[in-house]
Amino acid sequence: YFTFLFIVVIVGNGAVGKSSMIQRFCKGTYTRDYKKTIGVDFLEREIEVDGEDVRLMLWDTAGQEEFDAITAAYYRGAHACVLAYSATDRDSFDAIPSWKLKVENECGEIPTVLVQNKMDLVDQCVIDPDEAERLGRALGCKLLRTSVKEDVGVMSVFRHLASRCLHE
Ligand code: GDP
Ligand code: MG
Repeated sequence: YFTFLFIVVIVGNGAVGKSSMIQRFCKGTYTRDYKKTIGVDFLEREIEVDGEDVRLMLWDTAGQEEFDAITAAYYRGAHACVLAYSATDRDSFDAIPSWKLKVENECGEIPTVLVQNKMDLVDQCVIDPDEAERLGRALGCKLLRTSVKEDVGVMSVFRHLASRCLHE
């Protein structure tokens, strides 16, 4: 029998929770210490989606968000993409269209999901829900909300992408 393998890149501004999301999904753990990792790393996890075994390899463009030339090389070969921003960080939301373009330039149109992280920080949320929905529609991406901290919605992100990849 057969295991599908899909590479997923997670992009977005620094500190939105990309590394935390990968760690949560692949290892089931969460840390509050914000470590600016050097270099690109990946973790993987196998899940069952639509009756198929799917192995997801998650690339973390770790802490090099500001170095376009370095990170672009790592998008190449990705099958799916998470565009991540933080509910508490307006700049990270505004930067999403440019992240989408960067990935598109290397990968073309691949299954992509827009993720608003840190939904546990409701009282610090600076993103209007309608505006977020509009951005999702404008980019042609489903909008999902997560709290990596509380472990809410993370599994849905990867199930959604894996399912899209299977049916491409
Ligand atoms: P990256 O730079 O995008 O990889 O972000 P990190 O994964 O390093 O996370 C940056 C900071 O945000 C860390 O202190 C995390 O613990 C924190 N963080 C990540 N996800 C969440 C979340 O869902 N809620 C809250 N409150 N903090 C989070
Ligand atoms: Mg990181």
